[in-house]
Amino acid sequence: MSNGNNPKGQNRPPQQQAPQQAQKPAPQPAAEPEVPKTQPREERRASLVILGAGPVGVEAALVASRLKLDFLWFEKAQVGEHLNRWGHLATHAPMKTLVSEIGLEEIRKNNMDEFLVNLDEPATGKAFRDGYISLLLETLQLSGKLEAGVEAVAAGRDNRLREDPRGPRDPIGPFRLFVRGPNNKEEHILADAVIDCTGVLATPRPLGKAGLPAPGENACRDRISYFVEDILGADLKKFADRTVMVVGAGISAATAITQLAEMAKEHEATWVVWLTRRPSTLPVRRIPQDPLKGRDAIAAAANHIACRAEGHIEFHSGAWIDRMENQGNDKPVKVFATIGGKEIAWEVDRILSLCGYQPSRLLNRELRMPWETTLDLPPTGIDSREQELNPGPATEEPGWYVLGSKSYGRASGFEVRTGYRQVRQAMAEILRVRLQEITKRLAA
Ligand SMILES: Cc1cc2nc3c(=O)[nH]c(=O)nc-3n(C[C@H](O)[C@H](O)[C@H](O)COP(=O)(O)OP(=O)(O)OC[C@H]3O[C@@H](n4cnc5c(N)ncnc54)[C@H](O)[C@@H]3O)c2cc1C
Repeated sequence: MSNGNNPKGQNRPPQQQAPQQAQKPAPQPAAEPEVPKTQPREERRASLVILGAGPVGVEAALVASRLKLDFLWFEKAQVGEHLNRWGHLATHAPMKTLVSEIGLEEIRKNNMDEFLVNLDEPATGKAFRDGYISLLLETLQLSGKLEAGVEAVAAGRDNRLREDPRGPRDPIGPFRLFVRGPNNKEEHILADAVIDCTGVLATPRPLGKAGLPAPGENACRDRISYFVEDILGADLKKFADRTVMVVGAGISAATAITQLAEMAKEHEATWVVWLTRRPSTLPVRRIPQDPLKGRDAIAAAANHIACRAEGHIEFHSGAWIDRMENQGNDKPVKVFATIGGKEIAWEVDRILSLCGYQPSRLLNRELRMPWETTLDLPPTGIDSREQELNPGPATEEPGWYVLGSKSYGRASGFEVRTGYRQVRQAMAEILRVRLQEITKRLAA
């Protein structure tokens, strides 16, 4: 694991071996027991730890660096890992709405303008990553700061268990994080504040009733994708002239449906079964006055396809998947669903399970997080647009901030620029200054 910007862990004292015992010790006169010469390993500690290097994590690191905070920064995979998952799809709005002023400033200061993505147009996920957030990692502010390939596995409060009573005046110690890096290298890190920007894309919701995996879902795993594959490009073979099932009613499902309909024009043997849970003739709920026009256009197009009931697509609302069966290699998967009290079965070659995502609770399970009321079920639901800092210090874990798409829990509709605002608010609270002060310091 490479070190971040915090030098504290760089010169750890080498561990000394405990003296070895002789094999058959001769009787010795009684002596004072020898004190082992090992010393406790020095643990890395930082004022701030940032988790995740998606757009919001990168912005958090940039702001922290410009404010001269000492921080450590961990990313489970590579910078922009989740953008890569939809690298072939376009953003719903021009890139100028997905970048920040200080991000652009740094790229220009470092003479990297020629590699900057075109700001006036939407861009693919890949171009967003390569032409913006990866560039920021090469700037003087952020170069060498990210520890990639390091997963934050769990977090708690130092010297305290979750269930230990907490009096209002009890001093609360720093956070203790358990991280795992390349070659399974494990480490504990201490942090006064943590900004968790780990997103939701790694935890897709399963296909079955009540939000549970459907019986057989796991056995069919190699035929299911939980994100929109490159239907018109690299993954065409998986879909062309095949029977495909799409499950879900969000923008991802809408995107898949529009692309499958487009593809089926040339590959006429393609058949698409689209299942949604809500009993509604219009599958995709559009966000009223959606600020992302591209997103709304996709929702409208998919609804249109469902209503027309043509283009090689059958649409069923009010459908719940009961179970699925893997019938063996090279054979289609059998899916059983209940629609209007009747069970229907299909044999399908590929399933796009696009039932949404949810924040992982694993990382935070030893912390007292207000999951029900905020993180997992945000009261504002799909229309939430201005959900800012959440949860902030009003919770029982002052200093732990969940920002970015994870802060919207199961709700979609998160916009990257909301995340950029959340970052500034969190920094103001961490440094105990007003938001205007952060704006002033960043502009200096
Ligand atoms: C097709 C498409 C178009 C879009 N268009 C727009 C648009 O026009 N405008 C807009 O505002 N938004 C748009 N979005 C949404 C936007 O891309 C996401 O909301 C945004 O990427 C979320 O950023 P994030 O930093 O919160 O999380 P993510 O991008 O999900 O990043 C999270 C990072 O954390 C890492 N991570 C996860 N777990 C751990 C762990 N335990 N330890 C360490 N690291 C971890 C992941 O590997 C990942 O790199 C679009 C999305 C899609 C799919």
